[in-house]
Amino acid sequence: MTKTKSQKFPLKKLLIWYGRNKRDLPWRKTRDIYKIWLSEVMLQQTQVITVIPYYHRFIKHFPTIESLASADEQEVLKLWEGLGYYNRCHNLYRSAKLVMKEFYGSIPDQPEKFKKLPGVGPYILAAVMSIGLGLPLAVLDGNVIRVITRYYGMKDDVSKGPTKKKIHEIMTGYIPNDNPGDFNQAMMELGALVCAPKSPSCEHCPINADCAAYRTGQTGEIPYKPSKPKIPVYNVSIAVILDQHRFLIQKRPSKGHLAGMWEFPGGKIKNGESPGQAVIRECREELNINVKTIKKLKMVSHTYSHFRIKLNVFLCGIKSGEPKSMNQQPIKWITVDQIETYPFPGANHKFFPELKEYLKKHSD
Ligand code: SF4
Repeated sequence: MTKTKSQKFPLKKLLIWYGRNKRDLPWRKTRDIYKIWLSEVMLQQTQVITVIPYYHRFIKHFPTIESLASADEQEVLKLWEGLGYYNRCHNLYRSAKLVMKEFYGSIPDQPEKFKKLPGVGPYILAAVMSIGLGLPLAVLDGNVIRVITRYYGMKDDVSKGPTKKKIHEIMTGYIPNDNPGDFNQAMMELGALVCAPKSPSCEHCPINADCAAYRTGQTGEIPYKPSKPKIPVYNVSIAVILDQHRFLIQKRPSKGHLAGMWEFPGGKIKNGESPGQAVIRECREELNINVKTIKKLKMVSHTYSHFRIKLNVFLCGIKSGEPKSMNQQPIKWITVDQIETYPFPGANHKFFPELKEYLKKHSD
């Protein structure tokens, strides 16, 4: 039978387990709210193991909110490169500037003010306020949802708003005033380490005695979410336009997908067009030049949150014309060594080894 929130949650057992088993993570060793905020932003959508080196690098370059606010955005993006979901980075950067301008460099400690900063949604608000400042705001993330729905045997669709609200209310009912950050982290840690999506380690779980899903053998069905619709796949051609040892890159607009990053001219292949024809057309439209394809360097597949691309990467040479950006976006000729200077999307990094190899071979 499904239990209700009136059923007492074994808070003490959970906290004892957390005290003994929590991972030794860099952001758990600080009380600096800026560092806690940064870690939570990075941890949204990204696994702990991936975040750790990014966190260290970022803190090394920007140890304070002041240093972040006064940095060049390209430098900040470069440090985020590969972590994905770049809006998180843009929002944190914008927030840092606002904190300096409107709060004299002091991160607001009132939830009402903090939540007005760019990118501060309910999760970041609750995580930063509870872990950094000890305010009893309950977090809700995938780990928490899994633990609560399994523990209470809730079979509601967890992709729906009312279900999330119900789970959040349960969490809010339990969050203690004393060390609320530990409670939030304990729930998330239990979800990450024990109550895993597939094959949870129920025998080692500190709250298994009263867990509905465990007792009824339903951990495979709970949490319930309908299968996701398939994401679209786009076929794209791009040109690495060569001029001896240099090649041409262009900057993406400052708003939207992959804002402010650098990439290569190109675009979607139209119906009836071959990948090679598409890259020639795109270069004419974007740069007002005629190119010839020298060789297809690689085919790359890359998945973003809402779509996937198949990238046909061509090495090209200019047949006629002088490259001129037709969409007002900056363009630059760079050498292979300068790849490290500019932030590029992850899909581009998948063919950089072949590009470097080609340029090395043809440098003499
Ligand atoms: S007993 Fe199993 S299903 Fe229940 S909370 Fe623990 S790990 Fe999750």
